[in-house]
Amino acid sequence: MSPGRSLRRIVKDATGQDVYKCQACYDCDTSHENEMDIPLASLIQMVLQNDEEALQCRTLWSDSVLEASRRACKRGLDLHAVMTVLREESERRSGK
Ligand code: SF4
Repeated sequence: MSPGRSLRRIVKDATGQDVYKCQACYDCDTSHENEMDIPLASLIQMVLQNDEEALQCRTLWSDSVLEASRRACKRGLDLHAVMTVLREESERRSGK
């Protein structure tokens, strides 16, 4: 366990994906709004701000969104990898 590591750092270490590259264009291609409480773009921005609420949002835990996230980013970020690591981090913090 590495207390103090930011969510951005955790994602980067595990996946090589740097959410800093997110341009907040809000063009993420997802069509599951009914399963989302926040847009994927907001989820990525929350990770960038180390906002732990990102780990609790419905969007993160939607399997439909997770599947759609593979090709969602228009700027080349692998959002599927990011979401998978965030789920793992959430489970680790809750002791599962
Ligand atoms: S499409 Fe990619 S760069 Fe644009 S807001 Fe979504 S995650 Fe960020």
